[in-house]
Amino acid sequence: MALRRQLHRSGRKTTSGTKEWADRNVNCIEGCHNNCRYCYAKMNAKRFGRMTDKTWANMHIRKTAVLKTYRKTPGRIMFPSSHDIFEFPEFKEACFIVLRKLLESGNEVLVTTKPRLPVVRDIDTHFSTHREHLQFRFTITSVDDEVLAFWEPNASPFEERIECLRYAFSRNYKTSVSIEPFLDHNPKTLVKAVIPYSTESVWLGVMNYIPRNGIPLRDGVHYSEIRRNYETRHLGEIYEDLRSLPKVRFKDSIRNRLGLDENGERDGVEPRSSVPVG
Ligand code: SF4
Repeated sequence: MALRRQLHRSGRKTTSGTKEWADRNVNCIEGCHNNCRYCYAKMNAKRFGRMTDKTWANMHIRKTAVLKTYRKTPGRIMFPSSHDIFEFPEFKEACFIVLRKLLESGNEVLVTTKPRLPVVRDIDTHFSTHREHLQFRFTITSVDDEVLAFWEPNASPFEERIECLRYAFSRNYKTSVSIEPFLDHNPKTLVKAVIPYSTESVWLGVMNYIPRNGIPLRDGVHYSEIRRNYETRHLGEIYEDLRSLPKVRFKDSIRNRLGLDENGERDGVEPRSSVPVG
């Protein structure tokens, strides 16, 4: 999950990454217990020497982020973008303090999470009076718990995430879903499962960075399968299959691969053939 604005290969500036969703990101925890294998925030923290693969799941609270004042700022704020909201009491409390400050200042907040039902219920209990300014964006990347357990080892299972979506929908929140990165070979089943409970958008994207080095032999099959998911021809088939469904949007990570502009039209740029690997 990263803020970035990039120069499109055609020379136009396009919005990408989390900038497609929000004008600003707010976070109050370093590290993330979910410990997703594809985590961009973890990769950044490792690059700058703040964390390692071993320490990323050991979270600590950024006290300055919790204590500071948050004024109303233009546009929408994504909270959080480089961690999640957990049931662990001190971490939940830190997140709720920040969320309260953001909402009480009148900000529009996009709460982005691989959701857990007790946390979503608690957000409802504490923040329902702000529901006009709060949109949930639930990250649900697969219908298969074995796939989720590999890529997102400490995150919630599929049924719990979709239950959270149904719950928020039933409580009249604005709801949307991020299927980025999609982990199933064909994400159509998942897309069709979430559309009925999404009042806003359902976003599809690919894994932006797939490590190639240092992968244990036993894990190789998962990485081979995920690369097959993102072959350009396959992405094109998925795009044609899903483009007419209501609310479905394609992230820059797919549009750039297929040479599409922000409206999903061909932009005259040749499609890229593969996902960058490290
Ligand atoms: S939930 Fe997000 S921030 Fe946390 S490990 Fe997964 S990708 Fe990284």
